[in-house]
Amino acid sequence: MAEDAQLIRRGPGTTVNFHGTVKGPAAERWYIANEPGGPSIAGLRKTAGRLQALIQAAMTAEMRLRCHGARWSFSEICDPAGGWILQTDQLNWQFRLSASSLDPGFRGIAEELLLAQCGASIAEINAELENNGQALRTSGASNGQTIAGAIGTGVHGSAVDVGAMQSQVAGLHIVTATRSLWLERPSDPVMGADFASKLGAELVRDDLLFEAALVSLGALGIVHAVLLRTTGRYLLRSWLMPLPTADVTRALNTLDFAGAPLPLAHARPYFFQAVMDPARPDTMHCTVRYKQPCPPGHVRDNALKSGYEAGNDLPGVLAKLLDVAPAMRQTVVSLLIKSELRPFADRLGLPGETYSYTAARPGSAGSAMAVPVGYTSRALDLARRVFAANTGAPVIIACRFVRRSPGLLSFTRYDPCCVLDVDGLDNEAVRTVMEGVRAAFDADGLPYAQHWGKLHGLTAARVRSSYGSNLDRWTAARHRLLPDTAQREVFSIPLFDSLGLNA
Ligand SMILES: Cc1cc2nc3c(=O)[nH]c(=O)nc-3n(C[C@H](O)[C@H](O)[C@H](O)COP(=O)(O)OP(=O)(O)OC[C@H]3O[C@@H](n4cnc5c(N)ncnc54)[C@H](O)[C@@H]3O)c2cc1C
Repeated sequence: MAEDAQLIRRGPGTTVNFHGTVKGPAAERWYIANEPGGPSIAGLRKTAGRLQALIQAAMTAEMRLRCHGARWSFSEICDPAGGWILQTDQLNWQFRLSASSLDPGFRGIAEELLLAQCGASIAEINAELENNGQALRTSGASNGQTIAGAIGTGVHGSAVDVGAMQSQVAGLHIVTATRSLWLERPSDPVMGADFASKLGAELVRDDLLFEAALVSLGALGIVHAVLLRTTGRYLLRSWLMPLPTADVTRALNTLDFAGAPLPLAHARPYFFQAVMDPARPDTMHCTVRYKQPCPPGHVRDNALKSGYEAGNDLPGVLAKLLDVAPAMRQTVVSLLIKSELRPFADRLGLPGETYSYTAARPGSAGSAMAVPVGYTSRALDLARRVFAANTGAPVIIACRFVRRSPGLLSFTRYDPCCVLDVDGLDNEAVRTVMEGVRAAFDADGLPYAQHWGKLHGLTAARVRSSYGSNLDRWTAARHRLLPDTAQREVFSIPLFDSLGLNA
């Protein structure tokens, strides 16, 4: 058996996700840690060996193996459903790379690269980057996800001219039962063959495999490390204000902000988000952020923050409704909006100071659907009609915006997308609204694709309708990476069986 001082078996148990929306039995819970002695490529290689041994052990035991990052996914994508789980969040080494380790064909500068091990959290990555003059181009609303978990479902924020998190990825280290691969795009070589060989990996430059592995859903092997292309450190200047919906309707459907009554009339927002209480559709609570250079002397606030502040974690906000009677829906939602979407003006912070920590609030639930931006008003209208038939549901609808993002199964697949978040308390009324919105989109023929890590009501037909031939390409890539049934089985879950993703 694979266990040793770094790979520890904790026996069978129940696994629960961050917000408690999914609980499931695990036949075995594995925890993996790095070699003692600090980050090194030799240490990465040893850990990759352990990961491979564990995959082989799972296959011998005829068990499925599900990696857990931070378990922030609301959906059953983390549910081992009686199989094994591997907790990866202690694999959090990060590496800056020297120019000498890069491929001669690399176009860029070594300083922009960060190699993060799968379990490094977004908070840890932000701290490493922002204390050293760099920053992520985008992230989600808060910072607790691991990097492999975040790209594994295609996490996005609302930087209007930037893709989802996986759009920053330039290389991936993937471990399967029989292979260790360093994957890159042929058109974008970054690491030299020498690096791959020190890692004990094959250097594979292949568009199909790379595009499949970017959003892997944990179904293509273990993502051991992720190479990120970052940008120079910048500040975000943020405002939050209620605006008449009519004044931002054009911006919501075009991302052309001309004429919208935003704080800086002539600057293009870096970030824009609009939140609506569907019972008060004439007002949008808009968060707008502008990017500006960060002075070299800026000292980062490294304290782990909690609370809403300039961040925008709607599931966390709405979870406060938990203890309240549904009949009080309007009073409570209005009060919450007043306190949690309280207007503010001209706050300045690094991205990692802006998108901060969120405490677990069991009982809240989130769903998210990407639609082409030109359909935003139509999608909002359909969602509001569903709400009108379920007025007790404590939901809020948010519009966030993302460029088309790489990855065959990236749900932010329209250019650009509006991601419509339907978030609320995890009760029956909210689930009814969520499914009602999906059904309304289906009936209307509205193009949409759903966040893999949120509550989704996915069916094989919905997946096919959202992804079309990309689904076949992803499956073909999966067959190349995991060439026999036993290898594919180990990285599947019942959800994938039912959606045709384990074909
Ligand atoms: C408070 C809160 C706020 C959120 N905000 C946003 C937001 O702003 N934007 C957004 O898009 N989403 C958001 N989400 C959803 C969440 O960010 C995603 O579901 C994300 O994928 C969770 O990352 P994680 O590290 O917790 O991964 P997990 O939920 O643990 O795992 C996600 C997937 O990745 C796989 N995986 C994890 N590690 C590995 C690995 N090493 N190798 C292979 N597969 C792996 C898992 O098997 C699973 O399939 C939010 C969720 C919460 C709870």
